[in-house]
Amino acid sequence: MEAFEPNTLQEAVLYFASPDNCREYLVAHRWPDGVVCPRCGGTTVLFQPKYNRWQCGGKHALRQFTSKTGTIFEDSPLGLDKWLLAMWQVVNCKNGVSSYEVHRAIGVTQKTAWFMDHRIRLALGMAPAEKLSGHVEADETFIGGKARNMHASKRLTRITGTGGKDKTAVMGILERSSKESVSRVRATVIPNRKKKALQAEVRAHVEAGSALYTDALQSYSGLDEFEHQVVDHAVQYVDGRVHTNGLENFWSLLKRGIHGTYVSVEPFHLFRYLDEQAFRFNNRKVTDGERFSIAVSGIVGKRLTFDHLTGKTEALA
Ligand SMILES: [Zn+2]
Repeated sequence: MEAFEPNTLQEAVLYFASPDNCREYLVAHRWPDGVVCPRCGGTTVLFQPKYNRWQCGGKHALRQFTSKTGTIFEDSPLGLDKWLLAMWQVVNCKNGVSSYEVHRAIGVTQKTAWFMDHRIRLALGMAPAEKLSGHVEADETFIGGKARNMHASKRLTRITGTGGKDKTAVMGILERSSKESVSRVRATVIPNRKKKALQAEVRAHVEAGSALYTDALQSYSGLDEFEHQVVDHAVQYVDGRVHTNGLENFWSLLKRGIHGTYVSVEPFHLFRYLDEQAFRFNNRKVTDGERFSIAVSGIVGKRLTFDHLTGKTEALA
């Protein structure tokens, strides 16, 4: 079934105001070949319009399900109208959106908005299977720990005079654009900038044989399976390829988003912010409606509980 695809915020607000439209939109993205029971995979399902749910014809417990079952929206008492609009904001606001803005825009408490935000960010962290290749840049940066971004009372408790204590190391790997594709980036929190951590990231994300550009940090030496060239700022290269300008650009977008929009990013949650920014960067050449559609496709099969968010249990694998 082809669902209408809203392409502006105004269209999204109007369209998702109807529960039927929300359901149709999810069904089209989740089950493009027809509704399937999320518990047994059966296709003999009966829609019950009165309850806005399906009943599976299979013989097992819990035969009723909705379009939320088995997704990041499952178990949430909030309607899909609120979920999809919150998701639209997170996905399409260029510098990101704070839970405070979501709270005001869709009329839920700030705590609820914070929880929704984090569920949505998990959906955006769609780990791509294939490695980056061609011409690839690798670089690191530090995020956080700037006193001027904190509230005064928080500043007193957090800043202890040593400076840089709260900073978190982040590694970025960027595949440059080619004739077939726009440049794309992956950003992850790393424990430190030592050889072991940096090289493990490079090997996990970059195909052997690719051209690899890094700065002269000693931690990068020994990546012999790549065509590794080191940026030497004292030397002007003839072909102009040996630089990490693509990542410099991404770092400035990332830092503008984090310092400009978010009140603070706890290190524990930083990886989700990175996923969100990388998602928006990697999908920057499509329309808002297409970007939203890609994000919705990422929600299926992903679940997140409050314990996961607050660190009471191990992070999801
Ligand atoms: Zn079933």
